[in-house]
Amino acid sequence: MTTLTPVLTKHWDQADSFTRAGYEREGGYSSLRTALGMEPSAIVQAVKDSGLRGRGGAGFPTGMKWGFLAQGTGKPTYLVVNADESEPGTCKDIPLMLANPHVLVEGVIISSFAIGAHQAFIYVRGEVLHVIRRLQQAVAEAYEAGYLGKDILGSGYDLDLVVHAGAGAYICGEETALLDSLEGFRGQPRLKPPFPAVAGLYGGPTVVNNVESIASVPSIVGKGADWFGSMGTEKSKGFGIFSLSGHVTRPGQYEAPLGITLRELLEMAGGIREGHELKFWTPGGSSTPIFTAEHLDVPLDFESVGAAGSMLGTRALQIFDETTCVVRAVSRWTDFYAHESCGKCTPCREGTYWLKQMLKRLDAGQGTEEDLSTMNDIADNILGRSFCALGDGATSPIHSSIKYFREEYLAHFSHGGCPFDPAKSTKWG
Ligand code: NAD
Ligand code: SF4
Repeated sequence: MTTLTPVLTKHWDQADSFTRAGYEREGGYSSLRTALGMEPSAIVQAVKDSGLRGRGGAGFPTGMKWGFLAQGTGKPTYLVVNADESEPGTCKDIPLMLANPHVLVEGVIISSFAIGAHQAFIYVRGEVLHVIRRLQQAVAEAYEAGYLGKDILGSGYDLDLVVHAGAGAYICGEETALLDSLEGFRGQPRLKPPFPAVAGLYGGPTVVNNVESIASVPSIVGKGADWFGSMGTEKSKGFGIFSLSGHVTRPGQYEAPLGITLRELLEMAGGIREGHELKFWTPGGSSTPIFTAEHLDVPLDFESVGAAGSMLGTRALQIFDETTCVVRAVSRWTDFYAHESCGKCTPCREGTYWLKQMLKRLDAGQGTEEDLSTMNDIADNILGRSFCALGDGATSPIHSSIKYFREEYLAHFSHGGCPFDPAKSTKWG
């Protein structure tokens, strides 16, 4: 039985966990002192050796990304933290920044020192004012303590950190759209390559990393790459925050080694709500193909989830029991993608719009079996043909729900609407 490995979440339940005093009482900022005594290249090597992979969803090796930074460009190097958490079901970075903002600030300082950046940004989604205020407070406390600004702790190293609020667009979580937004433009994805590591913010070499990735760096520096790599699986090392939401007895954030299964997480979370059974779930938010009860024992690491037909993504485990209409759930997710599509490329702009219209019709029982082929066809024409990952993500619920729940779609047609009648039965049909 895999057990929890609280590192980032360890002190969340303490009343002052978000203050500098509370963080320092638990050893906070000691890794910064260690890091400032190291060669920057040794820190990059430690992050490479740890096996840390991007926690924003894609799982790209963090140390390798740092190693790709263009050298000798004559332009400043930047660190940008992607705190624009917006994926439906994803709720790990926001609680982390609320409960433990200083671990992120410490991670920013160490990571910036490692890559030679003197200016860093945390780009937070605009709707979460309480998180923005908390981060600003943490940054102000770090300046007061001499952890930010000129000559940090007498090391001769200077760093400024700005907390920047977005304006509430999901697409600004895409790293290049985020950079456009940070520069003051409308956020739309840029063509890649060049990747931000070569030409990013203001054209300078830029590392864009997720909140949880950067927040993991102090523990790697403090406890060592081997310690981090001793958790998880061979190719998906370390721990991560798994967010359980929906029809589960104790929803919340569970920090555990990668490779834990949903069955194990559900045991810790008290199981599916009493009297009900698991119907379907997402391993990593709505952009990852749905799973069913047959996937309860799939190890939640990048490789195993991929081999089982989905993606680990952001470890946003949205749990749905048998009272949920899968057609309606997919329809709501598709509304979201159609609304958030930035409109730059045709397959995503038009495809998500058509899918939205079709799902409304199917949900109302006005579809035909042929519509399922048409929806798969539209999704096939979005997948791999869109400019950024938003379009690809929008196809995941379509393809996977038709694969696993074709009968439920058909039942909508034969019933002339949603076949659920909660007053009579919790099951469709
Ligand atoms: P990606 O695979 O294109 O890139 C991942 C990272 O690796 C990027 O930072 C990219 O710059 C870098 N990279 C890749 N190849 C590189 C190279 N050759 N040189 C230098 N750098 C390179 O994925 P993406 O489009 O950035 O992200 C997609 C993921 O985002 C999805 O898997 C999804 O799970 C996740 N997502 C997360 C949220 C959220 O709220 N956290 C929302 C939507 C999607
Ligand atoms: Fe915009 Fe969608 Fe195209 Fe991405 S895939 S660039 S969100 S229209």
